[in-house]
Amino acid sequence: MDFELSAAQLRFRDEVRQFLAGLPPQTSAAVHDTGTLHSWDVHRAMAGRGWLKAAWPVEQGGQGRDPFEMATLNEEFARAGIPIEGWLIAELVAKTLQIVGTPQQRHEVIPAILGGEILLCLGYSEPDSGSDVAAARTRATRDGDDWVIDGQKMFTTMAHEASYVFLLARTDPDVPKHRGLTMFLVPLSADGVQVRPVHTLGGERTNATFYDRVRVPDSARVGEVDGGWDVMMVALAFERQPAAAGHLLHLLGRALDWARTAGPDGPAPIERPEVRACLARAYTDLEVSRLMGYRMTWLTSRDVLPHTEGSLAKLFSSEALMRAAASLVDVVGADGLLAGHGTGAPADGWIEHEFRHSVVTTIYAGTSEIQRGIIAERHLGLPRATARRDKA
Ligand SMILES: Cc1cc2nc3c(=O)[nH]c(=O)nc-3n(C[C@H](O)[C@H](O)[C@H](O)COP(=O)(O)OP(=O)(O)OC[C@H]3O[C@@H](n4cnc5c(N)ncnc54)[C@H](O)[C@@H]3O)c2cc1C
Repeated sequence: MDFELSAAQLRFRDEVRQFLAGLPPQTSAAVHDTGTLHSWDVHRAMAGRGWLKAAWPVEQGGQGRDPFEMATLNEEFARAGIPIEGWLIAELVAKTLQIVGTPQQRHEVIPAILGGEILLCLGYSEPDSGSDVAAARTRATRDGDDWVIDGQKMFTTMAHEASYVFLLARTDPDVPKHRGLTMFLVPLSADGVQVRPVHTLGGERTNATFYDRVRVPDSARVGEVDGGWDVMMVALAFERQPAAAGHLLHLLGRALDWARTAGPDGPAPIERPEVRACLARAYTDLEVSRLMGYRMTWLTSRDVLPHTEGSLAKLFSSEALMRAAASLVDVVGADGLLAGHGTGAPADGWIEHEFRHSVVTTIYAGTSEIQRGIIAERHLGLPRATARRDKA
């Protein structure tokens, strides 16, 4: 197999590297410190270069870049530690709308997303339904030509920056749970919507969102009435990505700089065998994660929507990130727990940061247990797990 990039792909990679090198040096730390993994400055600069729609066909105003060029763009942003989660979430909704949206949604919402004017957020999880997302209780009730929405969503990341929430609501409570759901694009500026911040231990800011008699027209519906589960399946296929591989790539770059720098009291940490072993293990995991990502990219380049491949890559890379961060804290010693950027902490605080942050990557977009269940059933063909109650 040939994993070399083509001349055109290498040219694009150089262009991306040049752009990243031109950003102010503190951009990465400054964006992470806000807890919102999005910077409007970076986003608008990307829009100015046409990169937000780089993957879209030229006839739709895009650049027609191939999936490997897009993977390269993501990898370079990750290597530089510049978070683009705002764009990644909005783009996955744009891709979903392209497949299941109405002509009006495709003509009005997609260009605003790809032009960098608006962000979207995902309103799936609720206080009592995260893994079992089909158990959503937020209600959408028909009222003439409108729908009235009542309920609460949990972990609505980016809701404080976004214009719309891509919302999963129950439209029929009397049928099996997967069949009574419908998806909507709800403007966050609508009367009755409230956004409250939730700050996680992992450093990411997310939100709780509340919907109190929020009225939207039927044109806000995405897909068929009670057909929301099919729409979710498309959106989830775009969401399950080895994004944690990007965090690992960034962490290891920072850790390697730390390991190669001699301190005032002795040789560089990389001289110690346990540091080399820790880095070697983590780089091996990173390589596996990258290859899993390339497999998804290759499938996409053949117009196949990766489903279980996304679960495999997401599971492996997020757990690899958590292993790497924990073992780096171990080899650094007590100083590994020093926090903050620009404080003199080892690797400028990124080891401590990722030690806390890596955990959330094993939770969002489906926890590791849920991914294992998907892989067992859909990839390995094992029978569906049933709840077992052992008697004490
Ligand atoms: C930082 C962050 C950002 C997020 N952003 C978003 C967002 O933008 N939009 C959104 O809709 N959601 C978002 N989420 C929510 C995320 O998808 C859920 O937290 C996740 O799906 C788990 O749901 P839960 O928290 O309700 O935990 P639960 O589902 O209650 O799970 C609790 C534990 O039980 C385990 N478990 C549950 N069911 C099973 C099972 N069937 N088999 C085996 N084990 C099981 C889980 O693995 C977990 O360990 C975000 C979460 C975090 C932490």
